[in-house]
Amino acid sequence: MEIIAGVHQIRLPFPQGMSGYTNVYVVEGSNGNILVDSGWGDSEVLWAFREGLREDRLKFQDINWIVITHIHPDHYGLASKLRELCGAEVTVHRTEAGLINSRYRDFGELLKDMGDMLSSNGVPQAELAELKQASLWMKQFVSFDLPDVTLDDRDRISNGSFGLEVLRTPGHSLGHICLYEARKRWLFSGDHVLFNAIPHVGFHPQSGDNPLKDYIDSLEMVHGLGVNFVFPGHGPVFNSLKLRAAEIFGYHEQRKRAIMTVLENGLKTAYQVAAEILWKLETGGVAFSDLGAWDRRLAILETIAYLKLLASEGSVGKIDRDGVWLYLSKE
Ligand SMILES: [Zn+2]
Ligand SMILES: [Zn+2]
Repeated sequence: MEIIAGVHQIRLPFPQGMSGYTNVYVVEGSNGNILVDSGWGDSEVLWAFREGLREDRLKFQDINWIVITHIHPDHYGLASKLRELCGAEVTVHRTEAGLINSRYRDFGELLKDMGDMLSSNGVPQAELAELKQASLWMKQFVSFDLPDVTLDDRDRISNGSFGLEVLRTPGHSLGHICLYEARKRWLFSGDHVLFNAIPHVGFHPQSGDNPLKDYIDSLEMVHGLGVNFVFPGHGPVFNSLKLRAAEIFGYHEQRKRAIMTVLENGLKTAYQVAAEILWKLETGGVAFSDLGAWDRRLAILETIAYLKLLASEGSVGKIDRDGVWLYLSKE
């Protein structure tokens, strides 16, 4: 539906009955239309996209550019298929484009690096194979292809009516971008800022060294823009970016304190820290041991991201004991 003059939102379901949906946006212009993000690469998702276009009297051929905020499967998975159907170029940030091949095609090395990283962060041998492979199922929902065009920070994509400025916002993903329409003060935020969820930020072989610091810096950057409307990749559109950013900053401070409290009891691996704090706080909190493999892995990667941030702030140190990192409080 056209949620504001010139911007159509299409909500695309997650595949195979998974809860959630991805918001994609068609930004109409006198020189053509820009699609922001795609959705999971799945036939039912494609059907939903086609229906969304039809409801707003649009056709595949009306899409002239496909701009992807980041390459997670719920944003990038359908991009190649839509490129074919729309005859449009797919664009991704240069940094993000560099991650595609090793994530979705030649992923043997990434898998090995993930296994080594989990092992050196204390994941027990008995859980290692399951956690290492916990994301492999997603690959079936990504039609692999490299983008036609790569974007750089501050590039501008204009369709005659709106100008979208590319703002690199690393954290949730290393080459994540938001798109800023400066005249209207609109922000297409991808997964950088969501209204009803805290975006996942984890340390992993493709995350960069201190992804949570990157994330907080990126959030401060968009926070300072004076945005008056946010079009996120999931959940409702909203106009209170400053308020929402403040909540997210507060959430991360609270999580840092929870981790420091765990470290008061002595040296711990990231795995041990993750196992001692609650997860899914938005649903009241779930113990680590009650999470499935995918969520346990996300929890460990998030914990490492906090520990890396705390180490960079001087609150935490680490020592190597037989190839396993142990963290300690320096406060
Ligand atoms: Zn994402
Ligand atoms: Zn997403």
